[in-house]
Amino acid sequence: MCDGPTSPPRAVAAFSPSVTCCTYIPTLSNIAVGRILLGDDSLGGRSSVVARIGRHDAVTPVGLGWPHAQGELYKDSQAHFGRHEGLRCPHFVTTEQGGRCGIWRDRNATCATWFCKHDRGEAGRRVWMAIRDLLGTVDGQLAWHALDALGISEERRERLVPRAGLLRGYDLVDGHRGPPKIADRKAVWGRWYGRETAFYEACAQLVDGYSWDDIRRIVGRTLDAPLAAVTEAIRALRPRPLPTAPVQGKLTRHEHTDGKTLVSGYSTYDSLVLSTEQSDALNLFDGAPLPLVRHRLQEIGLTIDDATLQQWLDAELLLPSKDTR
Ligand code: SF4
Repeated sequence: MCDGPTSPPRAVAAFSPSVTCCTYIPTLSNIAVGRILLGDDSLGGRSSVVARIGRHDAVTPVGLGWPHAQGELYKDSQAHFGRHEGLRCPHFVTTEQGGRCGIWRDRNATCATWFCKHDRGEAGRRVWMAIRDLLGTVDGQLAWHALDALGISEERRERLVPRAGLLRGYDLVDGHRGPPKIADRKAVWGRWYGRETAFYEACAQLVDGYSWDDIRRIVGRTLDAPLAAVTEAIRALRPRPLPTAPVQGKLTRHEHTDGKTLVSGYSTYDSLVLSTEQSDALNLFDGAPLPLVRHRLQEIGLTIDDATLQQWLDAELLLPSKDTR
């Protein structure tokens, strides 16, 4: 998520400056939590992390997960994404200008790679998603490596439950039914019970100074697939010939000022502003050969250059062929 002004000019509905796109609670690995606790707090987010630890809700040796109630709220509130202050991330620090991320240096992989707009539309988004998966894999694997090193036994780990889908992260077994009981917390934390902050700091100190070679050795072949996915996604950004018979994508249209139209394909956060004639012309891309479509466009007095066509393809206003629709 970006840390700057958040009124995306090409978006259908701009995000509120008082929340930006931070209507989300990030999971934080034990290492990230430790780094925030040990850091200089120049961004002002440390107290929000201390507060999460103090609530004991989804607070485990793996890190901080999503409180169950918050996850349910988030799932039901997607229409308010970027606008509803009730969903604001606890690590968002408000300022006169709106606000900023208080844990920016140690934000998680999703926060580090989510953008509402992409230079190359869907292809750009795929690059960031692949990087997110790579960073998330490293972060997650090192978090479990820290459990090994700091003596959280297999038996204790079995009391952790992974949460699927939006409710990511881990929780104690009884966390699904309400705040965990002290006995369950003790069963997971063992000698670290009551010293959770010290545990997280020890995790951060453990990996501090690890080189990429160290990480590759620890994470092993688990890194192969996400690394290959990043390479492939970057390769897909290379210029390619225009498709021979493009077809209109699945579009959303909204009125814009000056009689223009906001048209979105791959994401409603990344719409293009088209003239009414251009917006209507998208209907002419019906899978016919491109020269024939260009001829149709000329008949209605429109010329669409190759750069514009490529932009429409990137945004998935057009798809390469019917098969991809
Ligand atoms: S951690 Fe930072 S970037 Fe992520 S949602 Fe919270 S305030 Fe935004």
